[in-house]
Amino acid sequence: MNRLDEWSRRVLVPILEGRNPETDMIQQEGGVAILSADTDKIKEYVFESDRLPEIRGASMILDGLNTGWPGDGSPNIREIFAAKGLPIGNKEDPGAPSCIIYAGGGSLLALVPVNLAEKLKADIEALYPRETGVATITCVWQPIGVDEVQGRLKELMARQSLLLRRAKQEKDQRPFFEAIPPARRCDSCGVRPAAEVESVPELRWLCWPCKKKVENSLKNLWAEEFLDALLSGRLDCEPTKYLEKINPAELDSIQIAKDLEEIAQASRDEKSVGLIYADGNGVGHLVEASGTIEVYRRKSEILHTAMRQAVFTALGRHLSVAQNIKREIKKGKYEKVGAIHPFEIITIGGDDALLIVPGDRALDVAITLGRMFEAGLKKHEEFASSRATLSIGLVIADRRNPVYFLHSLAEDLLKSAKKRDRELSQTNQAPAEGTLDFLVLKSQTMLSTDLSDLRSHFPWTITAEPQREKAILTGRPFTWTEAERLKRSAQVVAKGLPRSQIHALRRALRQGRLMGSLFYLYQWARADERRKALLRWVEKEWGMQSTLVPPPWVKLEPKAGYKRYGTVWEDIYEILDLVPRLGDEEWQEIRARIREGAESEVK
Ligand SMILES: [Zn+2]
Repeated sequence: MNRLDEWSRRVLVPILEGRNPETDMIQQEGGVAILSADTDKIKEYVFESDRLPEIRGASMILDGLNTGWPGDGSPNIREIFAAKGLPIGNKEDPGAPSCIIYAGGGSLLALVPVNLAEKLKADIEALYPRETGVATITCVWQPIGVDEVQGRLKELMARQSLLLRRAKQEKDQRPFFEAIPPARRCDSCGVRPAAEVESVPELRWLCWPCKKKVENSLKNLWAEEFLDALLSGRLDCEPTKYLEKINPAELDSIQIAKDLEEIAQASRDEKSVGLIYADGNGVGHLVEASGTIEVYRRKSEILHTAMRQAVFTALGRHLSVAQNIKREIKKGKYEKVGAIHPFEIITIGGDDALLIVPGDRALDVAITLGRMFEAGLKKHEEFASSRATLSIGLVIADRRNPVYFLHSLAEDLLKSAKKRDRELSQTNQAPAEGTLDFLVLKSQTMLSTDLSDLRSHFPWTITAEPQREKAILTGRPFTWTEAERLKRSAQVVAKGLPRSQIHALRRALRQGRLMGSLFYLYQWARADERRKALLRWVEKEWGMQSTLVPPPWVKLEPKAGYKRYGTVWEDIYEILDLVPRLGDEEWQEIRARIREGAESEVK
């Protein structure tokens, strides 16, 4: 048996199993070190080009480096550990001993002999630029006492995070490619000089990092994993719905989308996509707060599974394979492609996910994703007693918007959703649920400023200075329950009220609280009994029936010396065309309930 095998058996394995290592062995190989790594400025690398294949390729390359296995056909971090003779576990057997405790979402945590730590760090840090030409990774390590691994892991992990943050700050800029004037720039990133001409699928000049992205764009491994999970019945949905438009013999021929246009074609309006950015709230800290490596590993695994299960179930429940998608073969020349998956999973990390779906399905996918993730964690005692929620930023926009732009907008929305989650965490809301903020982008010009600034001005907030009051024309961000209620309200309003009337109400609300109420009450008085009942139903859904505050407003908590009133009519208006239409049966059922509500009021 070689020395490292012995180190693994007598030092590493006991630690992994929550036991103490053999004392006479601990100082072998220089002692035990904890090593962590995290990729740098990944957004710049992934969204450098605006084309979906390059974005997908970049993401596939990164995930391969991070979580790939020896023999996968491309270099990866595990190979580096294996080359040093360290145990890296087994793809087929998750229980096999491994010095890698966690790998995913661009990060890594491992226990290694001190004698090897510096060399491992150097090799890992060299791997990323070598394979991507652009992306880098930061790696840090520190020697640890055995008592820290068993019981005092939390302090150790806090120190490790600090080391990592500092190392990142001190880091040099990423590799720089000088574009000498006569050099032709890459047709994809437009930044680096083009190195080679690429003829498939079309004639383009590319730099080698972009060329490599294109080469890795032919598959989306998450889409494959999704289909496997769906077919094996592991998801919380019936596979038949997703596959309703395809016969079983065609399963292997489902393609992935070539661009946002193809995903948008599956939306009812055939032109919008939704970009969903989901991230767990403080969930990473719950993992880091583990007492031992064994618990840390278990929690990471639960998180990893819950996120995939939630993403895949949400896609399976609300989407179905798209047929007859038009694909541009040459400029201006289209051809029908067979079946495609109407989504793109850009990434699924430990507690985050980034996906693109058809615009009209995005709200449903987001809500299910949030609910499933939280329910998935709650099932496990490791998370059952903690507040483990998810927040989502969702932007729904025309397919022609640059992905980078949509992503940074979704990031802002995510921040806003997380802020609401923090507020809710202080109110003992039960059962705890996460939050969603969204924006339906009608034009880019509406966003010359950041989100919170945007929402604090017209047409989102109308301030009446003399009365010291603000009328706020949105209820966002919403909890899942509120988002479901909003969807239902929009479905009912879309079915039961004429568009012209909703337009007029929206215009009136933008003139402030008083004008909004006057117009609303005037419209209400002129409405027939059926519409009156419907408006009453919406009022009741959103608690707009206080005798002191005329509808369609609700009184909010005062802030900074201003009285505040809110309404959800703008929210309803924005998503009218982006929610599934009510079926006749559902509509009859709701109408019956609306009528009952109106009758009980009369009594
Ligand atoms: Zn390029």
